This record gives sequence, C-alpha cells and structure tokens, in this order.
Amino acid sequence: MIRIIGGGLAGCEAAWQVASAGLPVTLYEMRPVRGTAVHKTDRLAELVCSNSFRGDKVDNAVGLLKEEMRRLGSLVIRAAEASRVPAGAALAVDRERFADAITAAIATHPLITIVRQEVTSLPAASVDEPLIVATGPLTSEGLSGEIARLVGSSQLYFYDAISPIVLAESIDRTKVFRQSRWDRSLRNAPAPVGAEAGVASEGSQPSAADVAGESGPAIGCGIDDGQGDYLNCPLNKDEYLRFYDALTHAESATVHDFDKERFFEGCLPVEVMAHRGVDTLRFGPMKPVGLTDPRTGRFPYAAVQLRQDNLAADHFSLVGFQTQLKWGEQARVLRLIPGLEQAEFVRYGMVHRNTYVNGPTVLSETWQLKQHPAIFFAGQMSGVEGYVESAASGLLAGLNAAALARGRATSAPPRTTAIGALAYYASHADPAHYEPSNITFGIMEPLVKPPRSKMERKMAMANRALDVLADWMRDRAE
Ligand SMILES: Cc1cc2nc3c(=O)[nH]c(=O)nc-3n(C[C@H](O)[C@H](O)[C@H](O)COP(=O)(O)OP(=O)(O)OC[C@H]3O[C@@H](n4cnc5c(N)ncnc54)[C@H](O)[C@@H]3O)c2cc1C
Repeated sequence: MIRIIGGGLAGCEAAWQVASAGLPVTLYEMRPVRGTAVHKTDRLAELVCSNSFRGDKVDNAVGLLKEEMRRLGSLVIRAAEASRVPAGAALAVDRERFADAITAAIATHPLITIVRQEVTSLPAASVDEPLIVATGPLTSEGLSGEIARLVGSSQLYFYDAISPIVLAESIDRTKVFRQSRWDRSLRNAPAPVGAEAGVASEGSQPSAADVAGESGPAIGCGIDDGQGDYLNCPLNKDEYLRFYDALTHAESATVHDFDKERFFEGCLPVEVMAHRGVDTLRFGPMKPVGLTDPRTGRFPYAAVQLRQDNLAADHFSLVGFQTQLKWGEQARVLRLIPGLEQAEFVRYGMVHRNTYVNGPTVLSETWQLKQHPAIFFAGQMSGVEGYVESAASGLLAGLNAAALARGRATSAPPRTTAIGALAYYASHADPAHYEPSNITFGIMEPLVKPPRSKMERKMAMANRALDVLADWMRDRAE
C-alpha cells in the first residue's frame, strides 16, 4: 500500500497514477477536519485562486506540459477538460465542477481509500510501501516541523519572495552596462573609485564588507555575490531619490492574513527595506560599490542589478527586488529605473506563504528524497510553482512510487520533455538561489540547431518533446 499525504492537485494525481498501476493507495486529506487559510471547501483538488490552467497549445511550455500529461493519463487534465469554460487559448475551468470531478474519481476508485485526518507525524515508509508528501504551500504546522526534521530545517522554506522578471528585449541597453561586482573577484577588488563626486556623504557609501554580506540584508535573497554576469542599471542621486520617493509611496497588494507574519530578515520586500531609511537600499539590493559605470569610470550613486533568468537569455530578474507592491504599482515604480523605462514584465514580484523544500539539495529528478528514497515529495511542496506543474510532479511521483513498490527502477523523462525539464530543474538548479519555477521553454534543453523563427523554434521543441516522451513511455512499459 502506498500512502499519500495531501489531497490537492499533486496528491490526487499521484493517487490516480498509483491506483491506475493496480496498487492500493491511502490518501490523507485534513480538510474539513482542519482547514487552511485559503481553502474554502472539503473538496479534493480545490483551486485556491485563479480558475486557469494557462495556455493550452503546445507552442507554449505549459500547453506542452499538459499535452505530455494527457499522454501519460493525467486525471487532473481529464477533469479540467471535462469542466472547461471559454477562455480563448487557455484552459480554464469551472472550479466546482473540476473539484467535484476529481473528488468523485478518487472517492469511487476501488483501490483508493480517503482518510480525512491531519497527519502530524510522517508514517514509516519502505521500498514496498513508499510515502508521497504532497501537502502543498499551506502544509499544516504540525507536519511542517516533522518535514523540517527530515530534510533539515535550513532546507525547508515558509515564504516565497519572488523578484520581478523583465523581458530582455525591453531593456534599454544604451543605459545599462554588463559587469559583475568587482569584476567577479572580491579579493582582487580594486580600490573603490568612489561614489559620484560630491553626492555620497561621508560614511554613507556602502563598503566592501556590505557586499561580502557582513552587514545589511542577507545575500540569501540573491544579492550579487560577485559571481556571474549582471546587467547593471546605474542611478544618479536625483534618479535614486525620485525612485525612492515613488517606492515608499506606492500601494502594496492586499495580503492574506497569513502573509502578515514576520518576514525573514534575509528576504525583506524592497519597499519594507526602503521604509527603514533613505540609504538602506544603497546598502542592500541597490549597492553601487564594485560596479564601475564605463561612461563615468566611477561607481554610480546606486545600481539595480539584473540577472539572466533562463537559458534562452530572454528573461532577466531584478536581483533582491522581491516586493508585494500591487502589480500596476510595480510597473510604474520600476520603470523609473534607468534602462527599464519600457520594461515588459514577464512576472511581477510577490511575497506569500509557501512551504517548499530546496529541491536541488534534497530531491532527485524522480521526486524521491536523496537520503530516503522511499519518500517522495510532490506538488508545490517539492519546489514547483503552479497548478499544472504541481499536478505534473504528482504524476511522476505517483508513477515512480508504483514502480518502486513493484521492485522496478524509478526514472524521469529526459530534459527535452517539459515534464522531465521540470523534474530536472527542481533537482538540479543552483541550490543557493533556488526559486520554485513554472515550466518555461527556458528550462528545457535547448535545440541543437534552433530554427530562426520563434514559432518554429517552439514547435520544434514541442515535437521533439513528444517524440522523446513516446520513447520513454515505450521503454518504461517493456
Ligand atoms: C493564496 C494562493 C494562491 C495561489 N494561486 C494560484 C493560482 O492562481 N494559479 C496557480 O497555478 N497556482 C496558485 N497557487 C499555487 C497553488 O497552491 C498550487 O499551484 C497548487 O494548489 C499546489 O498543489 P498542491 O497539490 O501542491 O497543494 P494543494 O492543492 O494546496 O493541496 C495540498 C493539500 O494538502 C492538505 N494538507 C496540508 N497539510 C496537511 C496535513 N498535515 N495532513 C493532511 N492533509 C494536509 C491541504 O488541505 C490540501 O488539500 C496559489 C497558492 C496560494 C497559497
């Protein structure tokens, strides 16, 4: 028997896959005995916010992921299609019909037993009786403590602090310059040229020690540690003060109650930092030291750094700029940064409650814990982002848990598929800067000979993915 904790998108998909493989499942769901801050019903797979499963064509990555899941016999995709509402090229659903369809399919499956109970200690797991943990972003406190003990408390996160991402082609390259802080090596740092003449008051210029993380907000939030290439947006004093004023007067998004708890000091929203004092950002994410503006030969008064965010290099994230300003306000304020006046936002910043593990440290690409291979993690808890991605990880965890219980090898499809790329990202991304991700073509293995047109490139990736998936499914069945 395989135990699954959490009857959300990932847990239900995993249960369906295990039962479809002919093995009995016990699925534990704590609602309605115990609720969460956002779920409203006792239904399995309740959608807590939007009713959209996003794009449905294979020329976008989430559409491709859905097509792969369809071919792998996904219950979530089948139920979504059965409860579809008109939404153009997206797959959106009637949320009640969707949750009803999943609940009915799970409840009536002869091999699945649903237990309505909060699990507060992890049941024993073995290769014969694996365990799947799929308790989602709002995992109950009782269980979070257990999971922290299992994976190590430094590998379990409770908040997501997401910085905005802009489209590379919308950055004004005439105003930004490419450079790593101190040209990569802190030890060989040149003597500071100094801030803009007559602008920084004595003692207010951030020091090399700040850059090294010995003071100011933690580097854990992604502030440049001197490695890698960055695009830098320099600000003079007037530009900085104008930006500072707009930032400190901008409107924050309405937050859920659970978001009002204390933020981790290392991941403060940029506007919260700004409220601490006019120079706080210049000691944090807007530190100018070590960045020499080629136009002046000096360190600017302040700087915003942009880091490449995907393999295709068409997305750049604002380093250390996690924020919970309203999206319209983010666009207005961030476009005051030189170089970002015409920025198009691929993703806005957010800070919200999200329980997830540092996948690259603790998980393998089969969604098994490296240290305890009989335990699988799936869904948002495993470090993916979004309804479809959560269900996709549940699907693969379910297939692999069933394989393990049958004494067969566990495996993941190659990185050329969307579902394999997601598994690879969650288990192999840089652990020091790990952020849960949606599926994008940027995390899939690039084409060897990419066609010139964007649409042809996407279709080539999609066709390759579906061929590779078919091979993987055939190999698995043998
Ligand atoms: C406020 C909010 C808004 C979001 N909006 C969106 C959105 O619009 N679009 C999107 O794609 N994603 C959104 N997400 C992310 C979304 O939560 C995930 O995409 C998806 O629901 C994750 O699926 P899951 O199966 O991992 O978790 P869930 O769907 O949350 O399922 C986890 C289940 O585990 C149960 N559980 C928790 N602890 C225990 C326990 N100890 N014992 C037993 N059962 C337990 C919970 O009751 C829940 O039913 C949002 C998340 C939050 C928090």
